[in-house]
Amino acid sequence: MKVVSRRGDTLWYFSQLFQIPLSLIVDSNKELSSRSLLNKGDTIFIPGYSKSTYEIKAGDTLLSIIHQKRIPMDFILLMNQEKDPSRMKPGEVICLPEKVCRPIVNPKRKYDYHTLFHDLNKLKEVYPFLECTSAGQSVMGKPLHHIKIGKGTKKVHWNGSFHANEWITSAVIMNLLNDYLLALTNGVPLRGLPCLPLYEGTELSIVPMVNPDGVDLVLNGVPNEKPFKEMVKKINQDRADFMGWKANIRGVDLNKHFPANWMVEKERKEEKVPSPRDYPGDTPLTEPEAQAMRELAAKENFDRVIAVHTQGEEFYWGYEGLEPPDSERIAIEFEHVSTYKSVQYVDSHAGFKDWFIQEFRKPGFTLELGKGINPLPLSQYDTIYPKTLGIFLASLYL
Ligand SMILES: [Zn+2]
Repeated sequence: MKVVSRRGDTLWYFSQLFQIPLSLIVDSNKELSSRSLLNKGDTIFIPGYSKSTYEIKAGDTLLSIIHQKRIPMDFILLMNQEKDPSRMKPGEVICLPEKVCRPIVNPKRKYDYHTLFHDLNKLKEVYPFLECTSAGQSVMGKPLHHIKIGKGTKKVHWNGSFHANEWITSAVIMNLLNDYLLALTNGVPLRGLPCLPLYEGTELSIVPMVNPDGVDLVLNGVPNEKPFKEMVKKINQDRADFMGWKANIRGVDLNKHFPANWMVEKERKEEKVPSPRDYPGDTPLTEPEAQAMRELAAKENFDRVIAVHTQGEEFYWGYEGLEPPDSERIAIEFEHVSTYKSVQYVDSHAGFKDWFIQEFRKPGFTLELGKGINPLPLSQYDTIYPKTLGIFLASLYL
């Protein structure tokens, strides 16, 4: 929500008035943060609020409205500066701030790229301290949305939907983000854990949908755009069902596409041409989605990464003995908070977390949510979410 500052207003005053932590207000107004005193007429973003309206009724007074709505007087004065509040007439409409207490993201739906895009725009509007950029583009030109939240020195990265038919992971990650935001602006703990210290101590980076073209193919069917329409039909050998599709739109499995013993996967996989799943590519990192993730990891210097997949109710945290000792400490806590099985080594190479561990010698995790056959049905959502929330919080507080 935007407000217009008056003479003498400060960000600190707004933080007190709206009961929003000062750091969230400062981070929502980055271009102003070097000044302590605001200028009259400055537009200020107040996170965690939206504007609502109220129609004056006969008998209403300023006092009766603030008692009825349980709001401070200055909510009305600040939001209606062009009006004389002592002379409000019935039928007149005034603006009131309304705290956002409900989630924007509805994760229990087919979570395609359009849904992600829509939710991100809404979240940005209500929580302007989110930093939203793009980590790159998919083959079909969709931006790979990258969200940053928090100002700490510890850098934690989460990503989802490397695999197309594991799109439920994007819904889970957006749900986690929204719950974190609600906890921050409403001052309520998550699982008993106050979130502001997490915000102050951690910079969380999220790429909720690494493979948007693939997700849309699984959820919405064959794209109309040339040459992709013919290409995916051919790769899928003219089968009408795309439910088993894991790859990007060109039939490369993005999580078998990183330079970490890539040749081993290349030689042992049956898929020798672009396929709905398991084809590691002609060489590593030919695909823009994987290139973007490599560049992001190289640029951002993450302390730990969590790549979210389905299924198995377990997570993998080692790679060829290259993982640091800290990985085990984190894995023990992840297992404890989620009851998911901790697995150090799995016979697989060329994945994002394999490459991350090999390249940076920092903790990397592949998290396999839920159990069953991909794509997991939304009926599993309520079982999956609480376990993932435990891991999410642990990834920030550890
Ligand atoms: Zn996967």
